[in-house]
Amino acid sequence: MDNKERYLEIFRKNGYKLTTQRRVIFEVLYERSNEHPSPEEIYDRVKDKYPEIGLATIYRTLQLMEDLGIVYKMNFNDGLSRYELCMNNAHQHHHLICLQCGRVEEVEIDLLEGLEAAIEENKGFQITDHSVKFFGTCKVCRKARSNKKEN
Ligand SMILES: [Zn+2]
Ligand SMILES: [Zn+2]
Ligand SMILES: [Zn+2]
Repeated sequence: MDNKERYLEIFRKNGYKLTTQRRVIFEVLYERSNEHPSPEEIYDRVKDKYPEIGLATIYRTLQLMEDLGIVYKMNFNDGLSRYELCMNNAHQHHHLICLQCGRVEEVEIDLLEGLEAAIEENKGFQITDHSVKFFGTCKVCRKARSNKKEN
């Protein structure tokens, strides 16, 4: 079973039919997960292949996928809900959010293992995931800023 099929299997295992609508919405997220699309952005993509779909269906399907643990719902403080696929049993990667241009970058390495172990040890709390956001200025904006200073 490839990665994609493993995700789709979650619908079936929980008694949900894999309707065309669900599949098309999943496909968009699968292809653009690292762009953290909002429901409206997903809608724009899905509409091309499936013009009769409505925004309400997108919201409903995303809610279902969140309940089933297929996607994360995130908020990067730009007022939009954004979605990305959950990785199999992995902790969520960290996000770097640029306050100048709104770009969201991902940090692929966890680096929190030591902290997690210390918390489990001291608090008896078993950590299964976390959500870490760093706010600041991205490389591109910093460069633009320093170029401005030079002129
Ligand atoms: Zn991400
Ligand atoms: Zn972790
Ligand atoms: Zn930036």
